[in-house]
Amino acid sequence: MALPELITDPAIIAGYLSDASNTHGSADALLRPTSTLEVAAIIRHCQANVIPLTVTARRTSTTGAPVPEGGWLLSTEKLATLHAPDDVDAGMLLGEYQAAIEAQGLFFPPDPTSRHECSVGGAVACNASGARTYAYGPTRPWIRKVEAVLADGTVVQADRETPCPWPVPAWSEPHVKTAAGYFPATNLLDALIGAEGTLGVVTRVWTRLIPLPRHVLAIFAFFPSRASLLDFLTEARATRTRITPGGAREDGGAGLRPRCIEYFDRRSLDLIRSRVPVSEADSAVLFEIEHDGEPPLEAWIDALQRHGALVDDTIVAEDEAGLARLHAIRHALPAEVNEIIARNGVRKVGTDFAVPDSALPEMLALYDDTGGMPAVCFGHLGDNHLHLNFLPRTQEEWAQAKDRYMTLARRAVALGGTVSAEHGIGRLKRAHLAMMVGDEQIAAWRALRKLADPSGILGRGVMV
Ligand SMILES: Cc1cc2nc3c(=O)[nH]c(=O)nc-3n(C[C@H](O)[C@H](O)[C@H](O)COP(=O)(O)OP(=O)(O)OC[C@H]3O[C@@H](n4cnc5c(N)ncnc54)[C@H](O)[C@@H]3O)c2cc1C
Repeated sequence: MALPELITDPAIIAGYLSDASNTHGSADALLRPTSTLEVAAIIRHCQANVIPLTVTARRTSTTGAPVPEGGWLLSTEKLATLHAPDDVDAGMLLGEYQAAIEAQGLFFPPDPTSRHECSVGGAVACNASGARTYAYGPTRPWIRKVEAVLADGTVVQADRETPCPWPVPAWSEPHVKTAAGYFPATNLLDALIGAEGTLGVVTRVWTRLIPLPRHVLAIFAFFPSRASLLDFLTEARATRTRITPGGAREDGGAGLRPRCIEYFDRRSLDLIRSRVPVSEADSAVLFEIEHDGEPPLEAWIDALQRHGALVDDTIVAEDEAGLARLHAIRHALPAEVNEIIARNGVRKVGTDFAVPDSALPEMLALYDDTGGMPAVCFGHLGDNHLHLNFLPRTQEEWAQAKDRYMTLARRAVALGGTVSAEHGIGRLKRAHLAMMVGDEQIAAWRALRKLADPSGILGRGVMV
């Protein structure tokens, strides 16, 4: 198989050299394969000539993961066919894929906030999560099989019965939502999911689908104080429901049963107030609840009232248009943050830590102290997974933000948490991963990379 066109025009390549973290790189050539066999031809050529190869999809990564440090760039954008509802090429936009199958009454739950901008393969490579992860888990359990090209150019179809060609080091992941480090996989599929493009290039994905929930109710509730919000959270969490790919529900019993619990601090509300009219409250929570046509609205309003929420300000969405409006509000936040960062010409410094339930109040208090620097804190409260985004205005402030970030990371790890709950490690968070797992673990993963990719061509500088 011949190589696809080798694009060397700097003006075209320029569009592929950064990601949402505002990290910039360089590449000598760009290739846009249209088939798995073309991907294999590229990888074999790179192996034979020891050319570093970076996989780039939609570049929504916040960690510099798809940003090349020289060598060639392989873009998955032309691998974008929907073959069947559960069989899709890796380069298709995740949101486009979900819209297509939802029109057929089917549901693929992973919902990174960026799902309308990121690819299916990117979500697999990063084991992406989202608000609904609270009930449905991350991308991993929703993937049945992938087609991939390994670093030696071998084309494989891997499911959970496929042995891994190299032993993946076992280790004890923290007991929180996490996307940091190599998953201690015992099969090739699980090794590729979350490997951030370092063990192979995923070209095609077979998903596990369940029927689309018939009705979803969303509530955007505002609180006068954090204490009242946290009281309410305790009650909402008591009926946590988990849903597995077989469709089985591990039910939290009667009651509120939210499928997501999203948080907005006062500074986040201030940031989106310019775009949408929201309450003047101290903080807010956005919930979604699946139901069969009889929304449990009274139970929710009753609980909100009992915990002192500003019930008159509450926004309730019961239909598609209302839900889309609330999703737009939620998405406006990280998008606004990224725009500010890009305008300020600095790199992003944002936490992606998750901690155990008991550590949440302490982390929230620590997130309040940003040394006077503008910042916003929002995210997946149900999983104690919040994004504190610093908004540095100068390089000096950026350096301060990085120091503060490291202090917070150490504390999150000491409390039993992870340095990355969903965005992964990429190039920017290697030191944080090393701090979390220790040098011995990093050495074990280096050895894995050496076995899988002896010339070290794939995703150089990513993860370890
Ligand atoms: C506004 C905003 C909100 C976000 N919200 C979330 C969120 O809620 N949850 C979440 O998890 N993430 C979130 N992210 C991060 C990001 O969107 C996800 O990590 C996403 O999965 C990346 O997909 P992508 O197609 O953009 O991949 P890219 O950014 O292009 O690449 C990411 C990594 O995956 C590798 N890769 C991509 N495709 C393949 C492939 N086919 N085979 C092998 N490796 C591949 C790349 O080499 C790179 O290492 C957000 C980002 C932004 C900008």
